[in-house]
Amino acid sequence: MSAEPDGPEDRVRRFATIWSRAVFPATSTSLTRPEFEEQLLPLARRLSEMLRARTFDAAEGRAVGAALVDAHCTDPEALTRALDCIDAYLVLYCGEDGPQDDLRARSARLQHAVAAGFAQALRERTLAEQEAIAQAALRAQGVVAQALHTSEARFRAVFEGAAIGIGIADLDGHVLEANQALLRMFGGSEQNVRGRNFREWTHADDAPQVWRLYEELVRGEREHYHVEKAFYRPDGTVLWTNLTVSLLRDADGNPQYQLALMEDTTERRLLNLRLRYEATHDALTGLPNRTLFFERLEKVLNAGEGRRFGLCYLDLDGFKTVNDSLGHAAGDRLLVEVADRLQACATAPGEMVARLGGDEFVALTTGPDSRREVDELAARIMNALVAPVIVEGRELTVRGSIGIVEGAAGERSAAEVLRSADITMYRAKSAGGNRFELADAEADARVITRHGLTTALPAALERSEFFIEYQPLVHLGDGSVRGAEALVRWLHPQHGVLGPDRFIPLAEHTGLIVPLGRWVLEQSVRQARDWQERHAGTATAPLRINVNLSPCQLTHAGLVQDTVDILQAAGVEPDALCLEVTESALIGADDDLLKPLRRLAEMGVDIALDDFGTGYSNLANLRRLPVSILKLDRSFTQGMQQFPADPVDLKIVEGIVSLAHSLDLAVTVEGVETGAQAEQLRILGCDTAQGWYYARPGPPERLHELALVDATG
Ligand code: C2E
Ligand code: MG
Ligand code: MG
Repeated sequence: MSAEPDGPEDRVRRFATIWSRAVFPATSTSLTRPEFEEQLLPLARRLSEMLRARTFDAAEGRAVGAALVDAHCTDPEALTRALDCIDAYLVLYCGEDGPQDDLRARSARLQHAVAAGFAQALRERTLAEQEAIAQAALRAQGVVAQALHTSEARFRAVFEGAAIGIGIADLDGHVLEANQALLRMFGGSEQNVRGRNFREWTHADDAPQVWRLYEELVRGEREHYHVEKAFYRPDGTVLWTNLTVSLLRDADGNPQYQLALMEDTTERRLLNLRLRYEATHDALTGLPNRTLFFERLEKVLNAGEGRRFGLCYLDLDGFKTVNDSLGHAAGDRLLVEVADRLQACATAPGEMVARLGGDEFVALTTGPDSRREVDELAARIMNALVAPVIVEGRELTVRGSIGIVEGAAGERSAAEVLRSADITMYRAKSAGGNRFELADAEADARVITRHGLTTALPAALERSEFFIEYQPLVHLGDGSVRGAEALVRWLHPQHGVLGPDRFIPLAEHTGLIVPLGRWVLEQSVRQARDWQERHAGTATAPLRINVNLSPCQLTHAGLVQDTVDILQAAGVEPDALCLEVTESALIGADDDLLKPLRRLAEMGVDIALDDFGTGYSNLANLRRLPVSILKLDRSFTQGMQQFPADPVDLKIVEGIVSLAHSLDLAVTVEGVETGAQAEQLRILGCDTAQGWYYARPGPPERLHELALVDATG
C-alpha cells in the first residue's frame, strides 16, 4: 500500500463516495450505487472548485442543483441529504488549505445556490409534466360533463394517479372534482375541498396579479396562468404551491370549467428560507452576518440622493485574552451576551446590528439626522458594555473600540465605508481602546499608505528593494571597532528610503519578517566573511556582526537550522554572530521559546538583549535567559546628554552594569551622540558603544575603512 498522502483528486473522489452513499437511497435512479457515484463525481469536482474559487459564481452552484434533478434526485429528501452532506464534508475534504471561516461561509452560499438550482429545475420539470396532464385533460374536454365518453377512463387514470394535485371547478369557482393528491395537500378530508369555492382561498401573501389573472381566465380572456400561491389549510397552517390553472371550453369553444394543477412546494420553500437564513445569519449569536449586513449597507448606499447613513464598527478590547485564558466556550458566551446587548441598542426602524466575525460587530442607522443618531448609537453601545458580563460565575469587564463612519448615500461603496470604519476603529484601539472615534479622510489616507506598504512588501523582497546599513560597535576602552549592527532599509520606488520602523511591524504582522529576516542574516553574515577576509593579516580580532531578530522569528521552527546553514554556507564561525532580541520579546518567555536561543548560544552565537531597560523585566530573571550581552536602551544615554548628567540615570546605569558584570554579561550602550556621553559610559564600566558619535549607519565599505583606520592608527 502506498503511504502517499491523498492528492486533491483523491479527496474529491472520497467526497463523491460519501455523497453518493448519502443521496443514493433517496433517489429513483436505475443506476447502481457505484454508477451513481460516477455520475456525481464531476459535480463533486465542480463543488470543490467553487469552494476554492476566488469569486463566487452562484450560477455554477445552481447548475449543480439542476444536475441533481437530472440525476433523478427529485425527492426533497434527496436534496436534504445532498445539502447535509455538502455541509458536513465538503470543507473537510476539499478545503483544507484555506481559512476555515471563509470556506464555511462559501459552503453555506454554495448550498443555497444548489438548493435554488434544484428547486428551479424541479419546477421546470413539474411544469412540463403539468403541461402534459393539461393536454390529456384538454383531449378529454367535454367528457367531464358527459360521463360516458371513451377517453373518460384515460382521463380518470391520469387524474387519480397523478402525484400533483388536480382539481376541476366551474366558472363560479365551485370545486367539482379533486384528486387524492389535492385532498392530501389540504389535510386529507374531502369536505375541506369539494364543494368549496375557489374564491374563498385568498391569502395575505397573494401576489397582486393572482386574482386579476383568475378573473381573466374565467371570462375566457386567457387560456391559462401560472403563479406561486399560498393557501390556508383547515388547521390554519400554510400550504405553498406552484399553481397552474387552465380554462376548459365546451365543444363550441365557450368557457366551461377551470382545471387547476398544483404542486406542493411548502417543504422546499421552508428549506430555501432556512438556507437563506443560515447563509445570512451568524450561527453563534443569531445576528445578521457579514453577507446580510453588506446587502443592507449596499441598499442604503444605493438609495440615492438625500439618504444618509451612520455606521459603528465595534471591536472588543482584549477579547483574545478572554478566549486564551478562559477558553472558547467562555468567549462564545461573552459574545452572545454582547450581541444581545447590542441588539437592544438598535431597535428603531432602519437600525440594524450584525456580527462580522470574531469579536467584530457593526451597527447601522439610516435616519435623516444620521450624524446625531450615530453618535447616540455609539454612546448607547459604550453604555451597554459598562456592566460586567457574568460568565461561569466570573465578572468579565467588557470594553470596546468603535470606529464611526457617517455620510451621504451614493458617494462610496460598501467596501470603502467598511474599510474606513475598520481603520477608524483601529485608531480608537491604538488610542487606548474603550472609546469611539469618528472617521476622517486624512487619517484614513495614512493607514491606506500603510496598507499599500504592507501589500507591496512581498514583491519588494523579490525585487531586491531592501538593503542593509551597518553601524559600528566600538570598544569603549580603546576605541577600536569590534563589529557592526546590521540595520535593514527599504528603497521604495515611490517613497524613497524607508526606515525599519516603517515596515518591520508590517512585516511582522504579515509573517514576511521570516523570509526578510533570513535574507538580512544571510547578507550580513556574508558581509562579515568579507570583512574578515579583507582583515586577514591585521592584528585585530575578526569583526563581528549583530543582527536583529523579531519575536516572530523566535517562534519560527526553522530559526536554528537556517542560522546554522547560513553560517556554514558563508564559512563564518558562530562566535562572529550576535543575534539581538528585544527585552520585551523575552519577558515572560517560557522554556519552549527559549530553547532555540539556548541551542544557538550553546553553539557559540551571542545573544544580546536589545533595548534593555524599556521593558520591565525582572533583573533576577536575567540569569535564566541565554543572553551574554545587554544593550542598554538609548533613553539612558539621552539622560547623559546634559551636563552634569542626571544623577538618577547614572545610578541606574551603574547598578545595571555591575549586576550585568556579576552575571557575566557584557554591556553595550546605544545612541551615543557626544564624546561626553562616551566618556561617562566608559567610566561607568560599559564595554562597547554604538551611536552617531562614532558613525551613523552606512554602507559596508565605510565600516571597513573605519576598522582599518583604527587597526593601523
Ligand atoms: P535597534 O536594534 O535598537 O537599532 C538601533 C537604532 O538606533 C537604529 O535605528 C539606529 O539607526 C539608531 N541609532 C543608532 N545610533 C543612534 C544615535 O546616536 N542616536 C539616535 N537617535 N539613534 C541612533 P533604525 O535603523 O531606524 O532601526 C530601528 C529598529 O528597527 C532597530 O532598533 C531594530 O529593532 C529594528 N531593525 C532594524 N533592522 C532590523 C532587521 O533586520 N530585523 C529586525 N527584526 N529588526 C530590525
Ligand atoms: Mg538592535
Ligand atoms: Mg536597540
